[in-house]
Amino acid sequence: MLMQDKFGYVTGVANHRSIAWSIARALDREGCRLALGYLGEREKQEIDKLVVDLKQTPLLVSCDVTKDESVQEAFAVLGREFGRLDCVVHAIAFARREDLDGRYTDTSRDGYHLALDVSAFSLNCLARGAEPLMGAGGGIVALTYLGSERAMANYNVMGVAKAALESGIRYLASELGPKAIRVNGLSAGPLRTLAARGIKDFSAMHKMHAARSALKRNTEMEEVADTALFLCSHLSRGITGEVIYVDGGYRIMGM
Ligand code: NAD
Repeated sequence: MLMQDKFGYVTGVANHRSIAWSIARALDREGCRLALGYLGEREKQEIDKLVVDLKQTPLLVSCDVTKDESVQEAFAVLGREFGRLDCVVHAIAFARREDLDGRYTDTSRDGYHLALDVSAFSLNCLARGAEPLMGAGGGIVALTYLGSERAMANYNVMGVAKAALESGIRYLASELGPKAIRVNGLSAGPLRTLAARGIKDFSAMHKMHAARSALKRNTEMEEVADTALFLCSHLSRGITGEVIYVDGGYRIMGM
């Protein structure tokens, strides 16, 4: 029971395929008292069906990261109900389909702002909200992808957003470190989720990953969830500002 007596806020649960949902299950399994963040009513209805599988009934906290008042209200609820937080999981990303399908060169100003706002700036919002509740220190974990450092086909503006997210992880880690708040990234191999459906030719990417990774297979949800659990727990107490790759060794391979 790694997370006994700990309180966590996991954002980005859209449905049973969400990476955030697997992470929530891993944290719940280890005794964490959870709050699940969701965007809107559609997501809430999905979560209502899922939570029966958890050991402890989670708090459901709506949060649209593009709206300051929504983020403030979410952390006010967390403060009122939990009084503290030990971990926060950022599993949020969005880009318009046309900005993923077309040429990166042609990304619109609006599309660029939207992708960076939802997928990267949102980590600032969550860290700022969590800081006063993490008086005893804590772990913040953000989901990222290798498209941050390599030009991946059809990842486009999302790759740029992930680069900003990863850089933000380092700045936040450096500022919040003196308060024992650790901030890390978890770079996952391709997983079949709702967000992944927005990426053109995702199946080809998925297949290529299995063929070229060191482990010669695709990444599994549970191994991503277990690494997130590790990064949230005291087992990773000496690690901050890092991006940990859970990709079966795809990144280390030559072509
Ligand atoms: P998902 O679609 O299940 O999750 C994305 C979540 O972002 C959804 O819950 C959605 O509601 C939320 N979201 C979008 N806009 C929001 C807003 N304005 N405010 C609050 N929440 C908002 O897909 P996923 O693949 O589980 O994505 C989770 C994270 O994992 C993302 O950051 C994604 O980039 C990252 N990731 C995914 C993969 C993959 O292959 N699926 C690989 C590496 C990293």
